[in-house]
Amino acid sequence: MSSTPQQRREELRTQIDQINLQILELLSQRGRIVQEIDRLHQQLNQDYYDPQREAQMLTTLEMANRGPFSNETIKALFREIFRASLAMTESAGRAKILVHRKSPDEQTIITLPDGVTRIGDGGFQLISGPCAVESYEQMDETAAALAQRGVKVLRGMAFKPRTSPYEFQGLGEPGLKIARQVADKYGMSITSEIMDQSQIPMMMDYVDVFWVGARNMQNSFLLKALGKINKPIILKRGLAATLEEFLYAAEYIVSSGNPQVILIERGIRTFEKWTRNTLDIGGVAVLKLESHLPVVVDISHSAGRRDIAVPLARVAKASGADGLMVEVHPNPPVALSDAKQQLSIPQFHELMDAIGSVMEKA
Ligand code: PEP
Ligand code: MN
Repeated sequence: MSSTPQQRREELRTQIDQINLQILELLSQRGRIVQEIDRLHQQLNQDYYDPQREAQMLTTLEMANRGPFSNETIKALFREIFRASLAMTESAGRAKILVHRKSPDEQTIITLPDGVTRIGDGGFQLISGPCAVESYEQMDETAAALAQRGVKVLRGMAFKPRTSPYEFQGLGEPGLKIARQVADKYGMSITSEIMDQSQIPMMMDYVDVFWVGARNMQNSFLLKALGKINKPIILKRGLAATLEEFLYAAEYIVSSGNPQVILIERGIRTFEKWTRNTLDIGGVAVLKLESHLPVVVDISHSAGRRDIAVPLARVAKASGADGLMVEVHPNPPVALSDAKQQLSIPQFHELMDAIGSVMEKA
């Protein structure tokens, strides 16, 4: 005799109750295994969880899923299980993120092509030059002054990511040629902003240090491509990026194979209008604590004005940063970009007098 719909529903509900108990038993079993792995991690002196392993587990589940739940639903459920497991093992608080500091003395040191200039070795380096390459004469006059004060890294910006498409966009490759010539004349390294991964082969000929601007900080494809090259990368903090997002951006480069990353704090967007951005000096101190990568402070784009360059440079030096980025132009009022914030050459000398010798940290 066939069962009524009510009877059938009761049968199915009984099955669901049994399955719930089975899932509970499996979850408990899983939890006990996680605890054992945690104990092994402690023996091995490792107290992290591994996001790559999590991603692999999710992919395996996705491939095995036959429905009726969608892959998204399955992944969301399992992510919750992973989270619960992590929360259970108190020692597993820290992700295995390559750019995170693992010990107080861990420090990435970047050596420039001259073989002697180092960023992150406990000294204080300057990265300087005009906002953009405008002419040979402009670069030459600036570099001469910078070289005189020991600056080793010259800005040779040929592609300018401007807010308005009607503003000066940079000289392009001819600008890089000028920058290279001038840097060679004064024994300096060239850093220049890359906008797109397609520019890598062309820029390799001119540039010693690739530069990722604030607007591209989260361009993960560009970051991954720069992770495949063997030149240092300067990475600027995004206009409104948290420190966590900033470090994840650096992680894209490092996890793709290039450990030579320098972080630049360049101010973040806040409600304040009297400075172009708000220099997050607390963020600099946190980055130094959380990461082993060198950190440089950009006192030009964070302020948007030159009249507070000296106090900001002092603060940068005192913060434990590994260096300073400042824009210098032979005639700032007529500069084609960032005219309000670039220092004149006499102002640059005043700044150097105020902060002391380049290589000494505070
Ligand atoms: C720059 O430093 O050249 C620049 C464009 O700054 P940001 O990317 O920080 O705006
Ligand atoms: Mn600028």
